[in-house]
Amino acid sequence: MASNRQTTCPGCGGRFDNITGPTHAYMISSSGCYAAFNRLLAAEYSDPALRTTHRLTVDTYAVQHAGDPNSRRAVQSVGLHLARLKLQLTHDLPPKETNDVMLGMSEHKATLIPLAPPTRFTLTVADVAPRAGTKQHSAKVRDWAQATWDDYAAHHDYISDWIAKTIG
Ligand SMILES: [Zn+2]
Repeated sequence: MASNRQTTCPGCGGRFDNITGPTHAYMISSSGCYAAFNRLLAAEYSDPALRTTHRLTVDTYAVQHAGDPNSRRAVQSVGLHLARLKLQLTHDLPPKETNDVMLGMSEHKATLIPLAPPTRFTLTVADVAPRAGTKQHSAKVRDWAQATWDDYAAHHDYISDWIAKTIG
């Protein structure tokens, strides 16, 4: 499997085609990983049934590609997306309420501290992108989101406390 046509993503550790192309403005990833992420997004934009899945995809990708811990924007991104992941995976709020809570959390993002990512991720977008647009799309994204939240176990208490302080 270890072909030199593939490279390891510095964010999630997944193996992707060694391509030249764009990456995100402040999340750190390989171009192949970012292209795989964009395949998932394209499938989600074209199917209204995947709207709630889309939110999980964005949050999971963000926390797997943390970026520079000295960048305030990157630090806030990881904290906020982790909090959003927790809300979606552990609270069964209706979408409207989830939105309100998430907006409320955004207003407090300046209080978030840097959270070191785990040394490895159980699943990456490399495991999910092959199912983009198929019947397994949504279940695969959910597995990926849950595994990623579990990988961040060291910060679960911090995120729970932060959510409690933020939304009361
Ligand atoms: Zn990656």
